[in-house]
Amino acid sequence: MNLGISATEYVSQIRNGQISAEEFIAKTLDRIRTVEGKVHAYITIDEQNALNQARIIDKKIKAKERIGALFGMPISIKDNICTSGIRTTCASKMLENFIAPYDATVVSRLKQDDAIIIGKVNLDEFAMGSTTEFSCFGPSRNPWNVEYVPGGSSGGSGVSVSALECVASLGSDTGGSVRSPASFCSVVGLKPTYGLVSRYGLVSYANSIEQIGPVARKVEDIALIMNTISGHDSHDDTTVEKGRVDYLQDLNAGVKGKKIGLVSQMTGDGVDKEVSSATNAAVSKFQDLEAECIPISLDSVEHSVAAYYTIASAEASSNLSRYDNLRYGFDLGTEGYEFKAYVSKVRSNFGPEVTRRMLLGAFVLSAGYYGKYYLKAQKVRAMMKSQIDDAFKKVDFLVAPTMPILPFKIGEKIDDPLTLYLLDANTIMANLTGIPAISVPFAISSSGLPIGIQIFANSFQDKNLLQAAYALQQTTHLPEVPV
Ligand code: GLN
Repeated sequence: MNLGISATEYVSQIRNGQISAEEFIAKTLDRIRTVEGKVHAYITIDEQNALNQARIIDKKIKAKERIGALFGMPISIKDNICTSGIRTTCASKMLENFIAPYDATVVSRLKQDDAIIIGKVNLDEFAMGSTTEFSCFGPSRNPWNVEYVPGGSSGGSGVSVSALECVASLGSDTGGSVRSPASFCSVVGLKPTYGLVSRYGLVSYANSIEQIGPVARKVEDIALIMNTISGHDSHDDTTVEKGRVDYLQDLNAGVKGKKIGLVSQMTGDGVDKEVSSATNAAVSKFQDLEAECIPISLDSVEHSVAAYYTIASAEASSNLSRYDNLRYGFDLGTEGYEFKAYVSKVRSNFGPEVTRRMLLGAFVLSAGYYGKYYLKAQKVRAMMKSQIDDAFKKVDFLVAPTMPILPFKIGEKIDDPLTLYLLDANTIMANLTGIPAISVPFAISSSGLPIGIQIFANSFQDKNLLQAAYALQQTTHLPEVPV
């Protein structure tokens, strides 16, 4: 049995009786046991429940009962998305034993469509980071070279899909966290338009910019999962009522006659040579497919990292103030502490990156600095939105490298926050403006490390975006994951 099949292949093989859900889950659990020691994608594996669910689904199939579109497919979930009955830790000591009393909307939609939640996967603490090194459970490792980072913060999602430890995964993307691990692990990752997928049950980091998004091996798998998870949710007022869209339909529409803009500010200085040449090669592929490619300048992109870290940290400092170890937390044995001393003792258990963000966020919101930093960042965001609106009057899609550099060694940049922040230079724009963006695996470097290409579309053009991504995917032939 081939665990590397795509989600759509899984569905067709199970439909025509080639495989059973139980067999597939059992093999996937074997695979997890074999590779986890090397890659560390999972925080919690829900083995028994996954097998039980698979048996139920096989029975339903045998009895020809109605069955959901995902047919028992094993899906991993980033551990900042709530799952009733399985702990949701956010890779933080603060929530080490927290079990949510309800499922996030995306999780209940997956279950309604008969997906199997096989486990919860690793992330940077509270989704703050770009490498998955800031997890209180230790880093995940890149299946293409286990000495290297897998990207982040949804590193466990990228790794579990790439290392064939599940068929697909859900991550969250506040500034690139779905696309970065997708790019570094050679899988596909989509940040949908803001408002297209419910955030109910996603532990908040920066609400005004983040979205839950799928990670999978193929673009068609992303379309399949979007059919399940997208759409209005009465529990999340920022979701938009758009009617049903079938993301799989017309996926092979191609890009003939489309206009594609290569973002100048995302392809110049600071971009690795091999990443640059892969980007140029992707542009040539689009031209071969009869799209017209032109350069596009978006100068606000130069300020995106500064604006993003100001806004995201401000929202984080407010969101994380609720972790006082009273309603949830761990046993600190602090009897006799006076209230303030207790809370501050507890909060010293946040990791270094989360602490840095909370301090930065409180500072940029404080009287005297609010106008100088927070308000200015919001102005950059507005300027960026207006430049994006103008750009999409000229082109249908924008293209750029997902990550400016290749994956690097674990530990290499962990003490250098600014360098880590600059890694997000190409992904942040989509979050600050709300537009959808996808990372498609495109090349493998001479050192054997993956390179992903990013495509952006205008808000709510997610279906067209998937068509462009599918067209690019069809031009590639990539090797199998070595782990
Ligand atoms: N690297 C970015 C950050 O640390 C993005 C994180 C994310 O998208 N969750 O904030």
